[in-house]
Amino acid sequence: MPTLADVVEVLESAYDPRWAESWDAVGLVCGDPSQPVTKILFAVDPVAAVADEAVSWGADLIVTHHPLYLRGTTSVAATTFKGRLVHTLIKNDIGLYTAHTNADVADPGVSDALARAVGLTGPLVPLSPAADDPRRGLGRVGSLPAPMSLRDFARQAARGLPGTAGGLRVAGDPGREVRRVAVSGGAGDSLLGTARAAGVDVFLTADLRHHPASEFIEAAADGDGPALIDAAHWATEWPWLADAARIVASGLAAKGINVETRVSETVTDAWTTTAECEETT
Ligand SMILES: [Zn+2]
Repeated sequence: MPTLADVVEVLESAYDPRWAESWDAVGLVCGDPSQPVTKILFAVDPVAAVADEAVSWGADLIVTHHPLYLRGTTSVAATTFKGRLVHTLIKNDIGLYTAHTNADVADPGVSDALARAVGLTGPLVPLSPAADDPRRGLGRVGSLPAPMSLRDFARQAARGLPGTAGGLRVAGDPGREVRRVAVSGGAGDSLLGTARAAGVDVFLTADLRHHPASEFIEAAADGDGPALIDAAHWATEWPWLADAARIVASGLAAKGINVETRVSETVTDAWTTTAECEETT
C-alpha cells in the first residue's frame, strides 16, 4: 500500500523544499507519513470548499500551492476557519502538503504551465533565473508562434485560463503587436522591472497595482517597455496543478505505485463577483 511518505518523496524530488523562499512555509502540514494514500487532490488554496471536495471524493491527501499557515500559529482549535480545516482533514484521514515558492522556481514550475496555457510555444526560459541553476527561476519568457495584437493575445489568454469573476485586465494599446511574452504565476509586482529589462512585448501576471501599472503604460506609450495583463491570482497558478498531478503520478508509477489524482476545479480566487457602475443621467 502506498504511503504518504512515498508521495512526499516524489513531491520533494520535483519541488525541493530547499528552493523555497526563506519566508515561505512549504512541506507537510498535516498527516502521518505512514498513512496509506491512493487518492490525491491538487488545488491552489487550502480552503473549506477544497477540503469539502476532498472529503466527498474520498481523497487521502490534498496538495496545495498556497500554505495554510504562512505565518505560523499557536493553535489549531476549531474556533477559526484554519483550525476547522485542520480538524476536517484529520477527522477524515486527509493529509495536506504545500509546494509554494519551491514550485514557482522548479523546472518545470508554475509559470511553465501558465506560459503554455496562454499559448506560448517553443523554449521557455526563466524571467529571473535562480542563482544556483539558471534552468530554474521565477517567471518564464517565451514567444507566440506568430505576432498578434495585444487585444487578440488577451482574448487567447482568457480562453486558455480558467474563468474567474474578474477576468483579465489589460493595460496598453490594444492594437499593439506582441510576440515576446513574459508570464509569472501569482503576484508579479516584483518582476515588473525584470520584464522591462527582458525586452518583452507584454507581461502577464496577477495582483498588479495602479501606480506601477500606470507608470508602465506611460513608458510603453513612449515605446519603452511592455504592455501588461493582470489576471486573477488563482487562475495564473491553476494550470500548474495538472502538471504537478502528472509529475507525481508518473514519479510514483516509476516506483510501481499507482495513485488516482484529481485537479480541483473549484474556483477559489478571492474575488467572487463584480459590479458595473450605473450610468447616471
Ligand atoms: Zn499564489
